[in-house]
Amino acid sequence: MKNLPVLVVHGGSGDIPVETRTVRVTGCRCAVDIGWAVLADGGSALDAVEAAVRVMEDDPAFDAGRGSFLNRAGEIELDGIIMDGRDLNFGAVAAVQRVRHPVTLARLVMAESEHAMLAGAGAEAFARERGLPPCPSWELVVEREVEHWRGETRVSSTSGTVGAAALDESGNLAVATSTGGMFNKHPGRVGDSPLVGCGAYADNRTGAVSATGEGEALMKVVISKAACDFMAGGMTAQEAADGAIALLTERTTGVGGLIVLDRQGRVGVAHNAPCIAYAYITAGGEVTAGIERQRTQTSNMRE
Ligand code: ASP
Repeated sequence: MKNLPVLVVHGGSGDIPVETRTVRVTGCRCAVDIGWAVLADGGSALDAVEAAVRVMEDDPAFDAGRGSFLNRAGEIELDGIIMDGRDLNFGAVAAVQRVRHPVTLARLVMAESEHAMLAGAGAEAFARERGLPPCPSWELVVEREVEHWRGETRVSSTSGTVGAAALDESGNLAVATSTGGMFNKHPGRVGDSPLVGCGAYADNRTGAVSATGEGEALMKVVISKAACDFMAGGMTAQEAADGAIALLTERTTGVGGLIVLDRQGRVGVAHNAPCIAYAYITAGGEVTAGIERQRTQTSNMRE
């Protein structure tokens, strides 16, 4: 099998306004470059997805880490997950504040705690125990989101969750997803992103999937695990992505999108939201990046 390594990232689905598309695609492109450098250097899929997601958490173009949406109380609450396809181990954090890189905290939960998921104040206390410095909220909050929250400007985008899926030289798969959740969410609301099988799933036997969109709907169909199950049944990455989105459309009224990587290194991107931002680098080092727009129910258009 020489279709590896491969890295694919997304920068959220939804109504991505024309004026923000360039920064979204550039952000995805930077993340995929950094993650790919890890893989090209012989690094693991787990290291690559963490590196790629950290780049997007630092980039205020996305609803993850710095630049996240504010909740009704005007605060940032972050969710994240990382999963290792070798042994199905995962770590997740929910509703954390004062954490610059939720993906790294999620990895610490996976590697250095006896638990799989920590939330709120307890997750933050664990971060401090493990030496992650507290990140003051002013470092995460950007002026654009304060204006949105105050109602001074229209919310220019409905999403911006980030995710990455990787296949490394050894044939191992990993995935990570990170988000600030939905704009104006109730404090304490947790979406699909940190929930295993919903916001992400990775299994060396099938594939790696990261989802974005309306969490309340994505959870209902456990969308990332559904896509992996489709691959277990013999579908390619693109077929599984399409199948999972068809399931979302049939069984819920929600919209979203997902990136899928199968164990052969094939990439799938699908959505029923107006757009999804994505980038990927396949085995030969060839980069594809853009915004895919929905044209009809069955036919999407990549820019
Ligand atoms: N799925 C995320 C959530 O519901 C939001 C998004 O992907 O835009 O928290």
